[in-house]
Amino acid sequence: MNLGDLRSPQLVEQAARTLLAVPLGATEQHGPHLPLSTDTVIAVELCRRLAERVPDVVVAPPVPYGSSGEHAGFAGTLSIGRAMLTGLVVELVRSADDFAGVVLVNGHGGNAEPLRDAVRTLRAEGRNVLAWSPTGRADDTHAGHIETSVLLSLAHPGVDLAAAEPGVTLPLPDIIDDLRRGGLAAVSPNGVLGDPTHANADDGAAVLDRWTDTLVAAVTEWARRD
Ligand SMILES: [Zn+2]
Repeated sequence: MNLGDLRSPQLVEQAARTLLAVPLGATEQHGPHLPLSTDTVIAVELCRRLAERVPDVVVAPPVPYGSSGEHAGFAGTLSIGRAMLTGLVVELVRSADDFAGVVLVNGHGGNAEPLRDAVRTLRAEGRNVLAWSPTGRADDTHAGHIETSVLLSLAHPGVDLAAAEPGVTLPLPDIIDDLRRGGLAAVSPNGVLGDPTHANADDGAAVLDRWTDTLVAAVTEWARRD
């Protein structure tokens, strides 16, 4: 169920026993072959699957902007920065007090730290909130095999596999200092961290299934504790 499709009176009694799932994405370059909305598409799909598997979950409209400053210099990237993302999430979750809790499903690695800050503030205020991000291989973190395969499995029309080329395949810890200093452009001229050239829909479907299982388990465990 999507929040945007509901009418307010439908939520008056239901909200208190409903979890609100908020997809957090980004609008940022994903190499020459994937659309700028890749992280948002993935977060929305994971929320949709969560709502399919766990009862009483409503999916909020996605937040399509994130902290993407490290992708500056690549055409089309839009970023609201770390502090603004933290503030946005804090205010958004505060405004969702009618709901039993809020699950923030994050599709973009650069959002993780600002999200942690937001969750710390919100929990200190006594709010019931969980942030969850998918995990993957350290040598395939951006527009590589994993993300490309996932978008292929969703048959996303924005994928141009013919344009896919390998990027930097060093593990993220080896390049993170250069990345923080000079942005992604300093470590990978084509904006890719990983190798998307062997991406395929089957691998993407398996990854999505694994992420969904992990997300469902995390939400179930968290909801049981509260
Ligand atoms: Zn991405």
